[in-house]
Amino acid sequence: MKELIEWDKKHFIHPTSSIKEQQENGPKLIIEKGNGIYLTDSDGNVFIDGMSSLWNVNVGHGRTELAEVAKEQMEKLAFSSTFSTFSHEPAIRLAKKIADLAPPSLNAVFFTSGGSESNDSAIKLVRHYWIIQGQPERNKIISLKRGYHGVAAGATSATGIPQFWDMAGHMVTGFAHAKTPYEIGTSESIASIREVIEAEGPETVAAFLVEPVQGAGGVLIPPSDYFQEVRKLCDEYGVLFIADEVITGFGRTGKMFGIENWNVEPDMITFAKGVTSGYFPLGGVIVSDKIHDMLKDKSHGVLFHGFTYSGHPTGAAVAMKNIEIVETEGLVENAREMGEELLKGFKEIKDELTIVGDVRSMGLLGAMEFVQDPETNERFSPDLKVAAKVIEALHARGVICRAVTYDGTDIVCFSPPLTITKEQITTLLEKLRDAVLAVEQELAGQLSNV
Ligand code: PLP
Repeated sequence: MKELIEWDKKHFIHPTSSIKEQQENGPKLIIEKGNGIYLTDSDGNVFIDGMSSLWNVNVGHGRTELAEVAKEQMEKLAFSSTFSTFSHEPAIRLAKKIADLAPPSLNAVFFTSGGSESNDSAIKLVRHYWIIQGQPERNKIISLKRGYHGVAAGATSATGIPQFWDMAGHMVTGFAHAKTPYEIGTSESIASIREVIEAEGPETVAAFLVEPVQGAGGVLIPPSDYFQEVRKLCDEYGVLFIADEVITGFGRTGKMFGIENWNVEPDMITFAKGVTSGYFPLGGVIVSDKIHDMLKDKSHGVLFHGFTYSGHPTGAAVAMKNIEIVETEGLVENAREMGEELLKGFKEIKDELTIVGDVRSMGLLGAMEFVQDPETNERFSPDLKVAAKVIEALHARGVICRAVTYDGTDIVCFSPPLTITKEQITTLLEKLRDAVLAVEQELAGQLSNV
């Protein structure tokens, strides 16, 4: 084990990690195996995977059916291209299945290997859509502050969390960010999008890209009228509406696609994560009939966009099996029902303890905020690192979760596997209550010493 830790430090550059922390402490955990909602590390410690790893292992760990289907497909046809109109059965069947599940007006799929590639593909497809209609000046993308869309060039620029731009500078121009509805509500956020469209020049705006629930921004759930208003605004300006369903797609929010919670249809949906539950890297873009018809009509040359792994046969076979599990085990309904249990438990903890601010969950995508004063929503000083303390206290009690501290907030996010049972939710909530109580007592001690 000592050797592994040394090799990790010496040879492994971790994604979205502090290199300094890794060099000082080595890897946080070396995970060895997974089963259901649980992960086991190399010392035999068992953790509840409260985040489904990266909001993606929706059917839980250790599903041998998925391993079997991958093996079968690899033995038959591990890989074959889908460029130059070559095709194969797994990709065709998956495209059809996703079209059947998506909102009625979205029926054609472009495949990628993950969420960032999906968003960059969507951005390029909407620009192409406008180019073939003789409007190449319509090339700008509006998205929201606190939005997260990934780390490819376009996705980084669309992301509304500045640290991602600082890392290597702005990747692409032609992106602008409006205010999220978080804490300000629908009308102010819609006014802000309008303002940004007007400032950029409506004739230059190609699309509005938005997560139904902003995940990495802190599980920010928009008000119930929000996307109706977004749809109206996009229609008013002729701007395309792209829903980034990389987290929310395939059941996470208690609907097959998150946007269905608002009963509106976007022009494009990007997806990844939950489509394979992380058992194979695969994502894609679902486009509306309007866009597909335009491509069929006016995109005469080669569509110069494609990844080697677009429509990977093994990935497609795994995705089909994964979706079958989601459907046959009723995981979308389970997400809705268990999400209600989770939220009920959050509210009980909020009623009992004094540092809990807003609590929320849409399906199994939830969050708890920590504030100095729940009445006024006054935040803790960032020096106190309250969310990080809660994460550590959860970790000590065998729960892996994630903190969001952007903009001075202290938010802890929850996104457990959709297979979670009522008993497991109860255990998770008990551990959460204990962890928050311990942090509350620690803070009370600290503050009384000041
Ligand atoms: N979009 C959203 C909403 C995400 O949460 C993520 C990743 O967390 C991405 C895009 C990027 O996906 P990937 O990391 O697979 O490139």
